[in-house]
Amino acid sequence: MTRIGNDRNALGFSENKLIPSLMQGQIIYLFKNKALGVWSNILLSSILFFFLSTHLPEKYLFLLLWLGLIISLSIARYIIGFNFKYHHQYSQSELTSWANKHVFFTVLLSTIWGSAGVVFFPNEYPYLILLIMLLFSVLLVAIPTLAASRLAYVFQVLVTLLPITVMLILTRQPGYDLLSIATITLGITLLLASSFIYHLLFDLQKNSITLQQLADTDQLTGLANRRHFERKFKDEWRRAMRAKTPVSLLIIDIDFFKLYNDVNGHQRGDECLREISRALASITNRPADFAARHGGEEFVVLLPTTKQEDATMLAERLRRKIEALNIDFPESEYGIVTVSVGVSCCEPTWDAATSDKESESEQKVVFPAMLLTAADNALYVAKHQGKNRISEQGCGDHKLSSILHEQTLKDENKNKNNMEDELKPV
Ligand code: GH3
Ligand code: MG
Ligand code: MG
Repeated sequence: MTRIGNDRNALGFSENKLIPSLMQGQIIYLFKNKALGVWSNILLSSILFFFLSTHLPEKYLFLLLWLGLIISLSIARYIIGFNFKYHHQYSQSELTSWANKHVFFTVLLSTIWGSAGVVFFPNEYPYLILLIMLLFSVLLVAIPTLAASRLAYVFQVLVTLLPITVMLILTRQPGYDLLSIATITLGITLLLASSFIYHLLFDLQKNSITLQQLADTDQLTGLANRRHFERKFKDEWRRAMRAKTPVSLLIIDIDFFKLYNDVNGHQRGDECLREISRALASITNRPADFAARHGGEEFVVLLPTTKQEDATMLAERLRRKIEALNIDFPESEYGIVTVSVGVSCCEPTWDAATSDKESESEQKVVFPAMLLTAADNALYVAKHQGKNRISEQGCGDHKLSSILHEQTLKDENKNKNNMEDELKPV
């Protein structure tokens, strides 16, 4: 079974030491099930109110107040969960704070449920059994709390069942001792079962994260793969849109790599790809920087909150670093393995998730594809100018590459005309 860390946070509840993505998965699970908590609380408290208000008419107002508290607290907990964004990458402390909010309301709710065992303690068996069963049901429905904190769940079981158990023991009516044994047994059973569910939940979550990591990793180089890059690109684009910050992108392509493979064989080619990946990973050292293998001998580096000048500087550092690896390649005009890098930077203004058709047609809209296209065009220019260099292009700016295209066409035409002139009889 997985061992779970047990640091204490501000509220004194168990905080997991696990990697943030594992915790994020748990909190997502918790907030995705938030509706269950509202409906079950409303239903169970209404049942108790309905039966006890006829059995204890003198406590009608108290019961009404109790019902109001349960309903309003469960709705408040539900509304708070609305602001949790499933796709946002929260830091560990933010996740802990989200878990704490949920746990705080849950423990408050359980305390109010537990108080019913004292304030509305019925004297007749059927009502007493109904109350015990309802308290038990509330604890069953609260099992998702385990995703936030096991200690919180233990606390919940205690505050819900302890008051009625104490009342049963203190009242000393015949048969009540048996009922108190029943509530203690129910409590212990819940704690044992919850411990099992807790570990099961974490093991499942951990396995699913391991599988996700496998699916997101390029097996040859260990870098993120294209699939992962595309997801990350969308996330960072959205984040940059909200924060109004620039996003830069480098596209890196190994020069004459087909020739390298032809001369040295595929295995040496693979080893070269690995070496270049290591250099790439070592140069992207800010936590937000993201390097991936885009396919074949092409890599990408996503640089959130990075201006064009800084991205260009990093691209040049990367190019030099690969030069410094000094991988022998006499057949290349540079004698060693080199790369060409295309650099671009955009300030996102368009989000597929939130924008409507109207804003799409606006002039200044900056799409994610524009960044990719601009970096790709810049790479094209770098290759065209002789390789082993970097080239940059502004977002949505096709000028440089189109000038080159036009120049190529002109040169071709010129050559053709010259040849025709030479062939003409004088
Ligand atoms: P350029 O300088 O213009 O980029 O030319 P190039 O030869 O690098 O580019 P091209 O697209 O013609 O060839 C890319 C080569 O990369 C083809 C293929 O042999 C090699 N390649 C792609 N994926 C792998 C891989 O996983 N392992 C190995 N060893 N080689 C690969
Ligand atoms: Mg290449
Ligand atoms: Mg290529």
